[in-house]
Amino acid sequence: MDKKLTDEILELLWSMREKGLKSYARLVDGIGDKDTPEAIRKMEKAGLITVSGDMVELNVKGDHRARDLIRRHRLAERLFYDVLEVGMGESETVACEIEHFLSPSVTDSVCSFLGHPPTCPHGKPIPRGECCSKYKRSMRPLVMQLKELEVGAKGRIVFIVPSDESRIARLASLGIIPGSIIKLKQKKPSFVLKIDETTLAVDSAIAEGIYVKQI
Ligand SMILES: [Zn+2]
Ligand SMILES: [Zn+2]
Repeated sequence: MDKKLTDEILELLWSMREKGLKSYARLVDGIGDKDTPEAIRKMEKAGLITVSGDMVELNVKGDHRARDLIRRHRLAERLFYDVLEVGMGESETVACEIEHFLSPSVTDSVCSFLGHPPTCPHGKPIPRGECCSKYKRSMRPLVMQLKELEVGAKGRIVFIVPSDESRIARLASLGIIPGSIIKLKQKKPSFVLKIDETTLAVDSAIAEGIYVKQI
């Protein structure tokens, strides 16, 4: 079985399921490789997926493999796009390569390093790993949620995970954008930040979505 093609099919099935889709024709179309129908047959035989009529679905085994692939892909996007500041197109290309060979422990290290981001730069959810549970956070991350910064410390915003998209514009108008340097002045009863010469208070839902690198 062609591993790369199999992985791509699993991944597309996962993304399609996020949109409530399971059409066989759409899957084949989306992959755009003439070997796809043959690969799907083999995957069905191997127990990764189930095909019935125009419907394709992930089985438990396929679901686990797809979940790991998606997790690696979306974490790689965060790493290359937000931290290494590689352009979106190139980040996507690298993520598509790296997802096939990142080992589970390296994947968890990348996740920890990035402060366990809940979404990729496109806003899609990153499946959680073992490292994301509160009790397994051992590594000191490079990127952390604003709330983990100590009062008085400064950080550069690496990325923002908005609780709702409409907030991004409002945050941007306040200067809360990737690259801005902020100083955390207070955590309780509300978060108070200083950006340039402006001091502002934000609620905890917003503070939770701001990921910074301490400087
Ligand atoms: Zn993405
Ligand atoms: Zn994690």
